[in-house]
Amino acid sequence: MIRRLAPALPFLAILALSAPAIDVKDVSTEFELPFRQVHLDFHTSEDIPDVGKDFDPDDFATTLHEAHVNSVTVFGRCHHGWIYYDTKLFPERKHPNLKRPNLLKEQIEACHKRGIRAPVYVTVQWDRFTTTAHPEWVMRNEKGEFVGDTPGPIDGGFYRRLCLNSPYVDFLKKHLAELFQLVPVDGLFLDIVDDQPCHCDFCKKGMAAEGFDVAKREDVARYARQALDRFRIELTHHIRSLDERCTIFYNAGHIGPKVRPTIDCYTHFEMESLPSGGWGYTHFPLSVRYVRTLGKDSLGMTGKFHTSWGDFHSYKNPAALQFECFQMLALGAKCSIGDQLHPSGRLDAATYKLIGSVYAEVEKKESWCRKAKGLADVAVLSPEEFVNERVPEPSAGVVRMLQEGRQQFDILDSKGDFSPYKVLILPDAIAIDEALATKITDYLEKGGSLIASYESGLDAEKVRFLLPQLGVTKMDDSPLDGSGKPARGRSYPRNNYADYIKPQGRIGRGLEPTEHVMYIRGLRIAANDGAQTLAPAIRSYFDRTPEHFSSHKQTPSSGEVEQPAIVRKGRCIYFAHPIFTQYCRNAPRWCRVLFLNALDLLLPEPLLRIDAPTTALATINVQAAENRWVLHLLHYIPERRGKDFDVIEDIIPLADIKVSVHVPSRPSKITAVPQGEDVPFTLKGDRAAFTVPKFVGHQMIAIQF
Ligand SMILES: [Zn+2]
Repeated sequence: MIRRLAPALPFLAILALSAPAIDVKDVSTEFELPFRQVHLDFHTSEDIPDVGKDFDPDDFATTLHEAHVNSVTVFGRCHHGWIYYDTKLFPERKHPNLKRPNLLKEQIEACHKRGIRAPVYVTVQWDRFTTTAHPEWVMRNEKGEFVGDTPGPIDGGFYRRLCLNSPYVDFLKKHLAELFQLVPVDGLFLDIVDDQPCHCDFCKKGMAAEGFDVAKREDVARYARQALDRFRIELTHHIRSLDERCTIFYNAGHIGPKVRPTIDCYTHFEMESLPSGGWGYTHFPLSVRYVRTLGKDSLGMTGKFHTSWGDFHSYKNPAALQFECFQMLALGAKCSIGDQLHPSGRLDAATYKLIGSVYAEVEKKESWCRKAKGLADVAVLSPEEFVNERVPEPSAGVVRMLQEGRQQFDILDSKGDFSPYKVLILPDAIAIDEALATKITDYLEKGGSLIASYESGLDAEKVRFLLPQLGVTKMDDSPLDGSGKPARGRSYPRNNYADYIKPQGRIGRGLEPTEHVMYIRGLRIAANDGAQTLAPAIRSYFDRTPEHFSSHKQTPSSGEVEQPAIVRKGRCIYFAHPIFTQYCRNAPRWCRVLFLNALDLLLPEPLLRIDAPTTALATINVQAAENRWVLHLLHYIPERRGKDFDVIEDIIPLADIKVSVHVPSRPSKITAVPQGEDVPFTLKGDRAAFTVPKFVGHQMIAIQF
């Protein structure tokens, strides 16, 4: 389950990405994850009788096999704290109503007979049995209260969170050691392993011993991260002492730059992201575009549920499940669909009919997805590292804009390699230090291009730009009084102040040459000598304050130019406004048009051009061994039909889609796959052009060299 992090803490203070030495044999290059996985939840209350009574090993494995599933994650220990195999060490933790004493082992052996992989799920920080038996092992907040208690008296749950600095870890190690003795373990899915500030006695003692200040929130957060990194390293060593080859994954419901220091503790990445379960449709593309740069195999994980985990007897619309799985393929990931086994132990026929309908298609498509790597000529530096949120607004905005522009892009952290990309984007909130400024300068000197917006490029105190290449200087930032002069000493939320951008020339292509509102006022800047203003910012008559206001919303344009809004210097373009945050909030089309026009100035020959509605997604992957590129086209439209989340129900086919791909050499053949239909093409300069006559939902086009 997704959980918001603690409020944002000062940048870089907590997200130091340097890696401690981890002396663990890396087996991640020695296997490829199966494409068609199921994550079979089994959190089962002790108040339910006859657990596993209808389990039939043959029926279990046959149902999975017939649904084209080739890997299923089954349950060792659940969030209730119950164990589902014949434990001798911890009989008190064995599910009291388990009718098949060795359910887990029987599930795994039945799967193995059918050639289905079966990694084991083990809960880590949520375990009701343990938190009840050992309240002293539970994390505490600043007030000394348990972390994870649900606020309402009637809302049950097992969300009290165990501290990984407590003796609980000794139990966990013994439990894993016995697991490896008693059942065959293909891999481990270790769930709920995330750093949260903790004020329990163990942590307070640890902080004092290591010189952290318990009274400082930054210190507590930093200690929590460090302690969690230590836990992952220690547990990985323990697991490797039990088994040299099993896969290992630690789940926190999100994968971002925080994994960098302990990346070698993971054999692969599983990106939990249920669009209807709180993650939304923007989270997965954001996460996978980062994860795919880390050099390990990965899978996307959605659910078969209408909403989220534990939603029994509900079914996702088939078109939505298709989109979610095919999008994983298009972005270079394997597929996993979450389900929960009924306490009876029998798989639900309707669920496996649904999963089978999608996985039959995945099976046909996977030859064009095996060992596929995403191509990208644009890189985005992730704001997540600098603002410590899972999906910061600028991240959501930049992902949406680039996807709607069908640009090919990756997401990097500050340790990432910028050199393969033609354009680097620093969206809204990338305050930098000298080391990062030097790295970006080096990238620019070697021929890279840069787009930065708003506070990106400023130092940590947000006083001064550390990148002179942007060609701008920060000016006084006070709001304006009723006369249009700075009103010193006043402070209102920035989104009370609007100003207007007036596009002109190439940067304004596709827009009327008149004022367009920017709801969040831009940073006060001036263009330096030698920099060119691509579009001016026009001031309103005055900022909206309690003393001075006009009508319902922002005061209209005064017609007076206030400052530059978009500045170009050489291969750098700077936007004074937080265009990505703005796009995340209410998607003004003009923000996207201005940004994509700026990108076009710096990247005149993008990998892909396509004439299709902005609802169509398009990615290009390379399969090096086959010497081919594979273009993925997707057209599914999420719609907000209920107020909780977006759904997809229908597939609207697209026809006569004109595509042009910037190719490294003349293709020998272009084919619609898996159908195997030839696609006629022409080559003009470095671009192969062709038309896709029609596609329904998802289409792959193989470009053979
Ligand atoms: Zn603690």
